Amino acid sequence: MSLVVQKYGGSSVADAASVLRVARRIASYRAAGHEVVVVVSAMGDTTDDLIDLAKQITPTPPGRELDMLLTAGERIAMALLAMAINDTGHEARSFTGSQAGVITDASHGKARIIDVTPGRIRGALDDGAVAIVAGFQGVSQTTKDVTTLGRGGSDTTAVALAAALNADVCEIYTDVDGVFTADPRLVTKASRIPLISHEEMLEMAAAGAKVLHLRSVEYARRYGVPLHVRSSFSDKPGTLIVEGGGRAFPISPTEMFVTPTEEEAMEQPIISGVAHDASQAKITVVGIPDVPGKAAATFQIVAEAGANIDMIVQNVSTEITGRTDISFTLPAADGAAVRQALEAAQQELGFQRLVYTDQIGKLSLVGAGMRSHPGVSARLFEALSEAGINIEMISTSEIRISVVTDLAALDRAVVAVHTAFGLDSADGEAIVYGGTGR
Ligand code: ADP
Ligand code: ASP
Ligand code: MG
Repeated sequence: MSLVVQKYGGSSVADAASVLRVARRIASYRAAGHEVVVVVSAMGDTTDDLIDLAKQITPTPPGRELDMLLTAGERIAMALLAMAINDTGHEARSFTGSQAGVITDASHGKARIIDVTPGRIRGALDDGAVAIVAGFQGVSQTTKDVTTLGRGGSDTTAVALAAALNADVCEIYTDVDGVFTADPRLVTKASRIPLISHEEMLEMAAAGAKVLHLRSVEYARRYGVPLHVRSSFSDKPGTLIVEGGGRAFPISPTEMFVTPTEEEAMEQPIISGVAHDASQAKITVVGIPDVPGKAAATFQIVAEAGANIDMIVQNVSTEITGRTDISFTLPAADGAAVRQALEAAQQELGFQRLVYTDQIGKLSLVGAGMRSHPGVSARLFEALSEAGINIEMISTSEIRISVVTDLAALDRAVVAVHTAFGLDSADGEAIVYGGTGR
């Protein structure tokens, strides 16, 4: 008998028929004798719809109230799913994040989990029930208010519970058959990745592959939780995220464990995949004095505005003016706040003007093999140049190269780079079963 944590994303529970389908899958795990904890997201595009609704009331909803509103989406899904499971003859009990013991800090909209005390979940399992937990929410230790973990955060709820309950595996059910070499919504020839390391998955998630919430991968690595990404619409094998590979994984209630083949475990492709991110913006601080302390002061202001920046490029200053330009990328959602803060500090920083655009796209090539294989960047730049795509910024890590392009060219760039690195698959595996891609 295993303890399995399963997470079902919004597209897997988009309507009543989907909720019933998911309930049957959960019931089959129970029938096979496993303990099951389920984390569920809000149905379909409910979270986006609730945000739209709030924005019709006010452009700046208070974080506390927005979190209260958004967590309602997961409550609807969890109660309906519990009802559906009860109808299969297995007991199910639903819990909010707070009831499930998900304790967070107090930062609304992007709260961090600081502790998980799943006493009530353990109790439900001990009584033979399936425990259903509302995803992406918790309660602040200090304010006792309800918080959310940020968009896509249900993955992190699932991994955190799996760690706290010492689960055998955490299964992430979504609307594609696992992690692919690129977003299947964009690249129809994307290939399924059977096994991927935490390190590479972290880079993919950070670079915009939203199939897994970045923090869920961090959590899985820190606590050694085996992650299995798969589709709730098929019984295909999915993607295993583990260190070293070779471990046995539950795959279905009937055929409980699958061990990656020797070939899958051994194979170390140079490139794991191509990720893209269309949600970034770019700010250029033009004509800032090229003296010590200016970059520090600039980024101190950016940090105080709450933005996580990514790429930074500083030009060589011109000798005559002694001034330089600094460009950086940040989430477009933080664009307005950062712009305002920098403009307010124009006198102090002494720059000439700010240029802002959200019409940029970021493409990232990820692969642990880059460390030991020269020529990867040259091939990337050549692929982009052959496709006639201009590169605006470049940044690298040990196992990632990212470029910024014009937003309008991003999709084309991803397809071209995917082909250039030989990642195209011939067998049409990249099926998108549901969801609107919102
Ligand atoms: P869920 O509602 O199940 O949480 P998400 O929309 O958050 O689903 O994540 C699944 C989506 O992630 C897929 O439909 C796909 O469009 C997108 N995606 C982006 N990059 C990748 C990738 N490399 N592999 C698989 N899916 C990806
Ligand atoms: N419902 C939330 C969202 O849409 C959380 C999640 O789905 O993971 O972002
Ligand atoms: Mg998601």
